[in-house]
Amino acid sequence: MNKTIPVTKTFFPPQDEYVNQLSRIWENEWLTNRGELVRELESKLTKYLCVENIILTTNGTLPLQISLKALGLKGEVITTPFSYVATTSSIVWENCKPIFVDIDPEYLTIDEEKIEEAITEKTTAILATHVFGNACNIEEIERIANKYDLKVIYDAAHCFGVNYNGKSIFQYGDVSTCSFHATKIFHTAEGGAMFTNDSKLNHKLFYSHNFGHNGPTDFFGLGINAKMSELQAAMGLTVLPYMNDIIQERKAIVDFYDENLNFGKIRKIKLRSGLNWNYSYYPIIVDSEANLLRLITSMNEVNVFPRRYFYPSLNNLSYINYNPLEISESIASRIICLPLYSGLKVESLEIIKKIINNDNNWSKGTR
Ligand SMILES: *Cc1c(COP(=O)(O)O)cnc(C)c1O
Repeated sequence: MNKTIPVTKTFFPPQDEYVNQLSRIWENEWLTNRGELVRELESKLTKYLCVENIILTTNGTLPLQISLKALGLKGEVITTPFSYVATTSSIVWENCKPIFVDIDPEYLTIDEEKIEEAITEKTTAILATHVFGNACNIEEIERIANKYDLKVIYDAAHCFGVNYNGKSIFQYGDVSTCSFHATKIFHTAEGGAMFTNDSKLNHKLFYSHNFGHNGPTDFFGLGINAKMSELQAAMGLTVLPYMNDIIQERKAIVDFYDENLNFGKIRKIKLRSGLNWNYSYYPIIVDSEANLLRLITSMNEVNVFPRRYFYPSLNNLSYINYNPLEISESIASRIICLPLYSGLKVESLEIIKKIINNDNNWSKGTR
């Protein structure tokens, strides 16, 4: 039997390189509060990503909560049901009401054509996810936001290294956020970032992530603790030099799937034109949940463990008043992400290909 093939594997840089970064921390005797390593990571990421500002954080969820708070958002926030739970839970946590708008069946991002009908006098913002690194319809969302005077936050947790129309995708919206969790393409074990081009807002986001401090004894305003530590930054500094290779390696795997999978009974998502993608996920959609479950079983039998990303559709959360959303629920019940990580071997890809292409085995009934 082949070894277990999971949906993703965290990238572990050579241990001695991490230890070298750690020894700087011991020399400095400085563990947190924007030390030398955090400042170095800020500066390297600003260059790597071509962004004006970056605020590094403890994880990728706090930036969502801090942006909602710093923008003073109240009332209703229009959002997508097809994302990780943090997108919705952050809205509820900040005492706003998530108003779900269904997704586009091909791009899987919020359906911009359904946003306007969801706007009421209580609407204050749109919080949309560039799901799997695929861009939302940014132009249309910007037009609607301007027309109704709404703020826009992008959950860009999957978007490290993604460019859209020639610039970093993090440069769009009032704020964009990213996650550097161990399962994400670039990671600091736990970690994240927030981005804005508005220097006044950047100042507010910055002090908000550091208790509101203005020096040791004074405060600009309300804040929380979302600071990245030196230990996290050490991991980031160790992983960052490998990013171009990691993305190339992932591209080769994506190319393999694109060229070798039989797309009769499965389909891929459509990527937005103008997108320079990071190959972060390989979602496939089948025609029914029953067939999806059979496909997962066939894969599990040969030790392949894809993941049901994103399932369930977030309008099903227990703390939300349920309203049906046809497309998001249907897609969520029929989608999986295939294994995709640096170090995934061709032999493993051949195993995955065989199972998927042997579709008489798992695809029964209609179609
Ligand atoms: C991972 C993820 C988050 C949360 O990031 P953490 O760093 O785990 O807190 C938020 N939104 C989406 C879409 C994610 O995939």
